[in-house]
Amino acid sequence: HGKIQYESYRKNFYVEVPELARMTQDDVNAYRLELEGIIVKGKGCPKPIKTWVQCGVSMKILSALKRHGYEKPTPIQAQAIPAVMSGRDLIGIAKTGSGKTIAFLLPMFRHIMDQRPLEESEGPISVIMTPTRELALQITKECKKFSKPLGLRVVCVYGGTGISEQIAELKRGAEIIVCTPGRMIDMLGANSGDRKVTNLVVFTHGSSSQVMRIVDNVRPDRQTVMFSATFPRAMEALARRILAKPIEVQVGGRSVVCSDVEQHVLVIGEDKKFLKLLEILGHYQEKGSVIIFVDKQEHADALLKDLMKASYPCMSLHGGIDQYDRDSIINDFKNGACRLMVATSVAARGLDVKQLILVVNYNCPNHYEDYVHRAGRTGRAGNKGFAYTFITEDQVRYAGDIIKALELSGSPVPPELEQLWASFKDQQKAEGKTIKSSSGFSGKGFKFDETEHALAN
Ligand code: ADP
Repeated sequence: HGKIQYESYRKNFYVEVPELARMTQDDVNAYRLELEGIIVKGKGCPKPIKTWVQCGVSMKILSALKRHGYEKPTPIQAQAIPAVMSGRDLIGIAKTGSGKTIAFLLPMFRHIMDQRPLEESEGPISVIMTPTRELALQITKECKKFSKPLGLRVVCVYGGTGISEQIAELKRGAEIIVCTPGRMIDMLGANSGDRKVTNLVVFTHGSSSQVMRIVDNVRPDRQTVMFSATFPRAMEALARRILAKPIEVQVGGRSVVCSDVEQHVLVIGEDKKFLKLLEILGHYQEKGSVIIFVDKQEHADALLKDLMKASYPCMSLHGGIDQYDRDSIINDFKNGACRLMVATSVAARGLDVKQLILVVNYNCPNHYEDYVHRAGRTGRAGNKGFAYTFITEDQVRYAGDIIKALELSGSPVPPELEQLWASFKDQQKAEGKTIKSSSGFSGKGFKFDETEHALAN
């Protein structure tokens, strides 16, 4: 980087309005508590904003926000936007569906609009990295709501489809790239590329070695932000390497199932599951779209067949289906052409379908985060949703995490589930084993230095 003459650029655009300037530290603490208990770590974080106008976005953005029904900032947006707008690196942790996308998009547009217009085939200025193409597509869609009125170009770059088309699109020039890291690395050679990049967003746990390969190519004085639903240890190391003096903003201690989702867990025999599923479908299918989670591709295809035989038109979504078909399946599901889908967790990551009324875990999720993620496909944007989970006696080892998820989201724990777990624990104890939760969640935030470590504990 020492040999490259980078153009200078600005990244601090934030001007605190008088109404916020007047707030005392006590006012700020009370307001953060009101915003679902925001926790801020790191020095010099701006106060959370209350209205869109307070973050200093343009009229075009304000009217786009209004047009799309985004009345006021969500908690993560209220705190992360002024922090990123002031040019700081940031880690934002908030559950799925909490509005993280707009939290980085609005400062990003301000950042881009401050730079000179790109010449032909120049760019990008901002790179957004996501772990899956579904999430990349969803972020692209959200981004276009604003980039269009601003006259900015977004290209979505992901593996599995024609690379040449994506290269051609990049060559025409774009300010913003949303990508999965693998495909982005393949394409780095295609475009003189990263010289103009001043703004990086890393969204949830992508593979850190791939993320690093991209980050290492970007100028060191860039602005970098990371957003995630949880903050596992593996991400801490990455954060330490790519962020400079970051602010950490955490909403909610850990991701929990949203209170708009009514959760049911049934202890059930393997042979009874299919009939029970039909019964549940009979109850909800008229009311909206349904997604049924299984653990493996083979199980998705087998269940799909059984459902078709039972006269339920249905699709399946998993990693074994080629990209073209996956896109069209997701499309059909989103636009309601087909309203019943059997899927694996990975394939459905990031899927945002407003009319999704019901999630059925036909195979029990094997860790806390997966349960929360699956249940979080429903109950989005203030709509009511339902989640049913089947757990067999053989799967008792997962019961602890499910119980925790129910408790943390304030849902009642069914007595059969509690009993199942209690007898498992007794048995393990009798055998001299210790119970370890299968979840890898560490429950701790990113630490900046030892003093803060001490303060946080
Ligand atoms: P996350 O990335 O945290 O999972 P998203 O950014 O995908 O969440 O937002 C979830 C949903 O909420 C999306 O449908 C989005 O359009 C909507 N949304 C985001 N911000 C707001 C807001 N301020 N007001 C109303 N709806 C919002």
